[in-house]
Amino acid sequence: MPTKSANLVVIGQGAAGLAAALAAAEEGVDVTLVEKAAEDEAGGNTRWTPAYMRMAAVDRVEPSFVQEMLEAAEGRGNEAYFARLAREAPATVKWIAAHGVEFHQPDYYLAKGPPRIQPIGGGAAIHRALTRAAEAAGVSFRYAAPAQGLVHDGARVTGLRLATGETMPADAVVLACGGFQGDPAMMREHFGPGAESIPLLAPRARHNTGDGIRMALEAGADPAGEWNGMHSEPVDPRSRNSAPVVLLYPYGIVVDLSGRRFFDEGGGLVHETWETFSRHIHFALKERQAYAILDRRAREIPHWQRATRSEVPPVEAATLDALAQAIGIDGAALEATIAAYNAACTGDPATFDATRCDGLRASGALQPPKSNWARAIVKPPFLAWPLIGAVAYTFGGIATNEKAEVLRRGAPLPGLYAAGEITGHFYGTAPNAVSVLRAFVFGRIAGREAAAYLRAGGPGPG
Ligand SMILES: Cc1cc2nc3c(=O)[nH]c(=O)nc-3n(C[C@H](O)[C@H](O)[C@H](O)COP(=O)(O)OP(=O)(O)OC[C@H]3O[C@@H](n4cnc5c(N)ncnc54)[C@H](O)[C@@H]3O)c2cc1C
Repeated sequence: MPTKSANLVVIGQGAAGLAAALAAAEEGVDVTLVEKAAEDEAGGNTRWTPAYMRMAAVDRVEPSFVQEMLEAAEGRGNEAYFARLAREAPATVKWIAAHGVEFHQPDYYLAKGPPRIQPIGGGAAIHRALTRAAEAAGVSFRYAAPAQGLVHDGARVTGLRLATGETMPADAVVLACGGFQGDPAMMREHFGPGAESIPLLAPRARHNTGDGIRMALEAGADPAGEWNGMHSEPVDPRSRNSAPVVLLYPYGIVVDLSGRRFFDEGGGLVHETWETFSRHIHFALKERQAYAILDRRAREIPHWQRATRSEVPPVEAATLDALAQAIGIDGAALEATIAAYNAACTGDPATFDATRCDGLRASGALQPPKSNWARAIVKPPFLAWPLIGAVAYTFGGIATNEKAEVLRRGAPLPGLYAAGEITGHFYGTAPNAVSVLRAFVFGRIAGREAAAYLRAGGPGPG
């Protein structure tokens, strides 16, 4: 057991912070979790996520998991980190389940892709269960307590400064306070003009303003991850639902407000194209908005409703001209775009299959191409969904190793751990259904490693 006076402070009450706090408390550590938001606002992205996890079943990941992570990271990923993630994922899910959360194998929108499991009730269910368990294990929660700076003696972490001016002594600290998507200035700095106005996929993540990243960098931590990388998705701006994605665009076309196509809508399964697509809408289109245009056959796709979380129906019209008028796009331009697209849809529409890349590509003359699901838009009523890009989380963060230790000049910074979005392990595109899993897995590792560090005597003589 650690000495009675040894204490751990965990920053952030999302997936990573809760897993760290509970895991350390279960090892007998005295844990305080500080959270910037008020209690009803806390939980960052974790309370909004459906929490799909890339696992073949609750007790295993696919054998290709690590390789897929390295491919998504375009060769820049840390193999030891992803190998540990693959190894510990089943035990972590079992541990979460032991705290009262049930998992199932969900349907995922329309297209297949990697196998996934999901907690029933999404991230919110895990958030509730782990909060309850952490309270029962003796973790003290302090809400409306924004962390602002680390106190260290040059060699190791010794405390935490809150924005209130208070300093909390700490023998070890776990940083788990998310990315910087909620900070307009940091967004602009790393993504360029316009990034300050990109909406958040989960409004609750507005507290994720890069505080932990700044604190760690000030303490000498190494930066890591793709600073120009973010996970974003296309959403319906009319909707009041949480994260109202509309993922039917691969099965029709997408136009800008002048009625022109700008993107290969069928370039891959939806989770392979949504980042580039939604970034293009926000950063490359003048009005930062586009329309997905489909026809009646969209509603004949089995389970098509699974592909939209907007409660607002599409704009609907009997003719293309009437549709164009209803959405404020020049009718002649839209009709010309659709005529060119339809003329290129020369494949057999009977081979259309929304669940996989079906190879139904438009003929070569079409620009931009349409690589799959190229079926003519001819059957009224015609449908239009407005789309804007929204950011879920950022990739740039701090360097950690497979023990969740924060690195300074490549070596562990004693007493400092980090997990979740705050850590920079994603490059290129976000690997689908991994962000929440890695937050839980490395949160738990951080809590256990911090407990082991404190048990071994913690800070020791300076
Ligand atoms: C709508 C949506 C759907 C998603 N779907 C999936 C999915 O299906 N699968 C998947 O893998 N990922 C998904 N994600 C991403 C995933 O939810 C997140 O990456 C993950 O939950 C992040 O966990 P975290 O603990 O790192 O951060 P968060 O859950 O964001 O928690 C961070 C916490 O830190 C607090 N905080 C911030 N600053 C401070 C400070 N200075 N002091 C104290 N506290 C602070 C915040 O208030 C917050 O409570 C989705 C995200 C969104 C928004």
